[in-house]
Amino acid sequence: MTQDLTSQQQGQHPIAPYLRMDRMPHIWCPTCGIGTVVKCFATALEESDVDLDKVAITSGIGCTGRVAGYMNLDAFHTTHGRAIPFATGLKLGRPELEVVVFSGDGDLSGIGGNHFIHAARRNMDLLVILVNNFIYGMTGGQNAPTTPPGARSSTMPFGNFERPFNLPHLAASCGASFVSRWTCLHIRRLTKSIRMALRGKGFRFIEVIAPCSTLYARLNRLGSGLNLMQFYHDNAQIRHNIDTREVSMDYQGNIVCGNFVNDENPTYLDMMHNHYEKTLGERYKPMPPEGGWIHE
Ligand code: SF4
Repeated sequence: MTQDLTSQQQGQHPIAPYLRMDRMPHIWCPTCGIGTVVKCFATALEESDVDLDKVAITSGIGCTGRVAGYMNLDAFHTTHGRAIPFATGLKLGRPELEVVVFSGDGDLSGIGGNHFIHAARRNMDLLVILVNNFIYGMTGGQNAPTTPPGARSSTMPFGNFERPFNLPHLAASCGASFVSRWTCLHIRRLTKSIRMALRGKGFRFIEVIAPCSTLYARLNRLGSGLNLMQFYHDNAQIRHNIDTREVSMDYQGNIVCGNFVNDENPTYLDMMHNHYEKTLGERYKPMPPEGGWIHE
């Protein structure tokens, strides 16, 4: 797809060329935070000047899982929790692509949690944008692995007593090369982190804290998504490069944001090529640009 830089001249919204406008209106509730994250992603694509023919996006199931269907990219809406393994196969088969996984906390850290830790462990070459609204949204507000202690969900109406994941620490301790967290109030900073991640390699993980106005906010009597945005304004702290053990979240406590990890660990594809060059020698033929395995 050719980037349409004349959209403003044509009276379109600047990110319209990045969206499938024929799919609008979207399904998200008023003051839901997912749309803001989509805007940041589209802006980062525009500012990164990437070839959109070389970007593919995958999502799983859930409210955030609808993102892939709205982006004007090669897109795959997969089954619940399976966006990362689908993306892994895509990246292995077509290594020239920038493969982006865009899904929710329930999908990626609950149903697909095993895939998440192994893709991070392998430092698989994927950009993973996880929208964390602390709950399963589309399926009815059930407790998620991210629900803060004490917060109410439809399956824990007297408050959550489980310990939630600290997702940046989970990703970092498994070996991710880039780890970042923002809220959807941090539009410029989030956009910049996505740009940085698009330039990077390996498993790049960005968690975005976003309001679920209809379920999480209502079940916890927190007001609308706008009230939660005010909460982010008052309680977010930016601490780049901090040890990710220190970024876990309490119910209505501080939200530590920033770029926590940015290193150059060997990626899965680097390690794979090095290994086959060593073990197969001249018999190993690297992947051709258009993809597809060739071995003699
Ligand atoms: S249910 Fe929650 S997460 Fe889903 S669209 Fe509505 S506000 Fe957003």
